[in-house]
Amino acid sequence: MRVLYVEDEKILAEAVIYLLKKEKIDVTYAEDGETGLELALKPNYDVIVLDIMLPKISGLEILETIRKRGVQTPVIMLSALNEVEDKIKGLNYGADDYLAKPFKTAELVARLRALARRPAEMTAEIIELKDLKYDKANRTLNGTTLTDKEAGILEMLINNPDSAITKEQILAHVWGVEAEFDENYVEVYISYLRKKLKEIDTKAKIKTIRSLGYKIIFE
Ligand code: CA
Repeated sequence: MRVLYVEDEKILAEAVIYLLKKEKIDVTYAEDGETGLELALKPNYDVIVLDIMLPKISGLEILETIRKRGVQTPVIMLSALNEVEDKIKGLNYGADDYLAKPFKTAELVARLRALARRPAEMTAEIIELKDLKYDKANRTLNGTTLTDKEAGILEMLINNPDSAITKEQILAHVWGVEAEFDENYVEVYISYLRKKLKEIDTKAKIKTIRSLGYKIIFE
């Protein structure tokens, strides 16, 4: 299991990381909100653990930003304040769990394991949208195999059939933040995906919506 842990209290973080490593959990550590946000946008983690009170960018801001940019990685919020308000805010912004400080590392481990199981269950899932049948585990669309990037884009499109997905969202979700200025990648992979849609028996098309991005339509 790969975990991103964003926490500015270094002594606490070191103790937690030591114990997580003993549980064979692979931890990437960020000690401020800026680094945390940059890492959280990459599709490298099974769970993200976010402290709320952080220098530069707060945990809540990180959470809000990554969800807006289409990152669905499960998030556990940590708060020293144990305030109901923080908990509600966190859950409203799309956190999956909440842990008040001080906490026992065993409790954190149990919650990490519970959340890390979720995406595994989701990968066994078959998503159906009209005449499209997408098998997440095998990355096949109506029997045709998709590449990693094609699959990432397709998942975003079929999970959001009612709204357009922007190039920025696709870049952030599929490539991570380092590809920020290379929107050409998205266009290239959208064209690959269009080709594959033509090859299979479907009414689905990817429509370009000017200045908004892409949307899946059936015609
Ligand atoms: Ca803190």
